[in-house]
Amino acid sequence: MTQAINTQTKAAFQALKCKECGAEYELQASHVCELCFGPLEVAYDYSALRRSVTRESIQAGPNSMWRYRQFLPVNSENPIDVGTGMTPLVRSQRLARRLGLNKLYIKNDAVNMPTLSFKDRVVSVALTRARELGFTTVSCASTGNLANSTAAIAAHAGLDCCVFIPADLEAGKVLGSLIYSPTLMAVKGNYDQVNRLCSEVANTHGWGFVNINLRPYYSEGSKTLGFEVAEQLGWQLPDHIVAPLASGSLFTKIYKGFNEFVEAGLVEGKPVKFSGAQAEGCSPIAQAYKEGRDFIKPVKPNTIAKSIAIGNPADGVYAVEIAKKTGGSIEAVTDAEIIEGIKLLAETEGIFTETAGGTTIAVLKKLVEAGKIDPDETTVVYITGNGLKTQEAVHGYIGEPLTIEAKLDSFEQALERSRTLERLEWQQVLV
Ligand SMILES: *Cc1c(COP(=O)(O)O)cnc(C)c1O
Ligand SMILES: [Zn+2]
Repeated sequence: MTQAINTQTKAAFQALKCKECGAEYELQASHVCELCFGPLEVAYDYSALRRSVTRESIQAGPNSMWRYRQFLPVNSENPIDVGTGMTPLVRSQRLARRLGLNKLYIKNDAVNMPTLSFKDRVVSVALTRARELGFTTVSCASTGNLANSTAAIAAHAGLDCCVFIPADLEAGKVLGSLIYSPTLMAVKGNYDQVNRLCSEVANTHGWGFVNINLRPYYSEGSKTLGFEVAEQLGWQLPDHIVAPLASGSLFTKIYKGFNEFVEAGLVEGKPVKFSGAQAEGCSPIAQAYKEGRDFIKPVKPNTIAKSIAIGNPADGVYAVEIAKKTGGSIEAVTDAEIIEGIKLLAETEGIFTETAGGTTIAVLKKLVEAGKIDPDETTVVYITGNGLKTQEAVHGYIGEPLTIEAKLDSFEQALERSRTLERLEWQQVLV
């Protein structure tokens, strides 16, 4: 007798599997293979997914990332859902025209809930899983956004929270954690040093570190950035995507997400080029790509793009592999280009992104100029964080308000002055 799969209770995730040697492990809080030290990844029963998931069943789900629950590693029918995901996929008009592209889309996670970065996706999965595994304290090693998400979603779920950041982060990122009253450890050192410290704490304190011992679950949350784009394009894959790289995890999981949708019969398979963006001041993955290396040489970060400043990226090798085999590219841009990228997106689309988004837009521009993006390709650029959190980056580059008296003639004078200034600036451009 065959038993019907009950889609309400049977979760499709089956094991943790080593990405290097394929060894399988129980679904516990661990992230490294005991045999070869490779990273562990969640494996699913795809034939079960093919039978139980349809476009309609997804569309009948919540208007959040949890509409893809069966592709995520949680048992709970009541995951922590704070409205994360289903962010706008904007058809770009003015930026597209400026760059000479015909089919450009912007996936706007600058307005992701609750803390305005894509990290809310990974944390929603990690904390749901942490609760299932019995953790009462959650933690993370963060470049800023992850600490914001972990603190906020832990507050919502009533979990104790202790987060670690480098001490030199932007004020908005620090405040964006403190407001939720976690224990916030500002470590005198860079992210890679924070991460090393956290690995030691994870071993001694029995906490759930979302991006260390819970990393296999956490990282699966990024797949929803692939799922949503496919659904929002009318159940189709794009031709080309451009996304920022820190550890490289997000990049590899968009790839995994697209492939799972093909595997589950939800979209048609087709080639998608994967291009990645880094800041020159921290570009170990772009360097490996450029030099054709299959290993990463760690670097010491020095860039305004702090949210993606990881000098020793855990998934860097896999990111290089994906860019190569899909015919994409990995590029790096200077801090000046990053600021220009932030301004360009704001002025053409009305979207204010942080430094990671500025990096991605600058790389998009660079790829177009190098002829690496065909104008007729359906291209999706991933904007992963909000500019209000990194105001320091654009300070001094965006002009100032015109302070006036509350009188009509004061206004008229100021308006005339600003128009004259504008004309002068144009003349300077023209000379
Ligand atoms: C963390 C982060 C990234 C990159 O994440 P990885 O998965 O580590 O590559 C990109 N953009 C923003 C805004 C981030 O906070
Ligand atoms: Zn292994």
